[in-house]
Amino acid sequence: MKIDILTIFPDFYRGPLDYGIVRRAREAGLVEIAVHDLRAFAHDRHRSVDDRPFGGGEGMVLKPEPIFECIETLNVAPKAERRTDRARHSVVLLSAQGRRFDQAVAVALSALERLILICGRYEGVDERVGQHLADQELSIGDYVLSGGELGAAVILDAVTRLIPGAVGNEESTRLESFSTATARTTNQGPLSTCATGGLLDCPHYTRPADFRGLRVPEVLVSGDHEQIRRWRRLSALEKTWRNRPDLLEGAHLSAEDQALLARITGKEI
Ligand code: SAH
Repeated sequence: MKIDILTIFPDFYRGPLDYGIVRRAREAGLVEIAVHDLRAFAHDRHRSVDDRPFGGGEGMVLKPEPIFECIETLNVAPKAERRTDRARHSVVLLSAQGRRFDQAVAVALSALERLILICGRYEGVDERVGQHLADQELSIGDYVLSGGELGAAVILDAVTRLIPGAVGNEESTRLESFSTATARTTNQGPLSTCATGGLLDCPHYTRPADFRGLRVPEVLVSGDHEQIRRWRRLSALEKTWRNRPDLLEGAHLSAEDQALLARITGKEI
């Protein structure tokens, strides 16, 4: 997969691409990430990439020309092709007004060959970029950032770890918080995570079993795989109910899940 980032602050990416899974995926050639400086596509003496808004008002707006010109150098599939179901390339504009980025979007993007992320700044980007150049606008959450760079870093991280081979144990990226896959039983004992079906992940513990008098739940050191599985599922349901009840609406819940949930909420099913 190739990911291109268009930004007026290329130096911002000194760091975020150099750690952990993203670094290893780059080194292994699973993902190639190129950062493009939009100022290189400005033609005036001051290399200006922004201008005042038509209609008046506060702030500056990123100009369309450098963004269009930069993308035109990247050999991206033509827009008509990017609109089909079989599209292998996607141009994304980071925007607070975009569709909300979530794990399902990350999964869809991770299947692409090419992902182009355009970072806005100031008051935003000339609307013609969103309308005529980008295929979609994505927001990383309901708050306003000062630029798209952090958002693009969030998206590239979430997408890169889903590329086959990027994470040692592939099972673990499919069975985390928000995963819609359903659990597969393994012969090696209980799964380390029980977040399948769209729930949040269950709590994890490691050594020491007793830390300053805080003991890990007894069941986890019992060796009883079936009890551990049930405890993890119950905890994932409990945490989801407490922190993100909205996720329960779309979750795939088995009859056992329903019964566990009834125990948690104190409601009969
Ligand atoms: N005037 C805009 C905010 C502009 S913030 C508004 O009210 O919606 C400047 C840039 O930061 C945006 O162009 C976008 O690229 C980025 N940005 C801000 N919030 C974001 C969010 N929640 N998700 C993704 N990008 C965001």
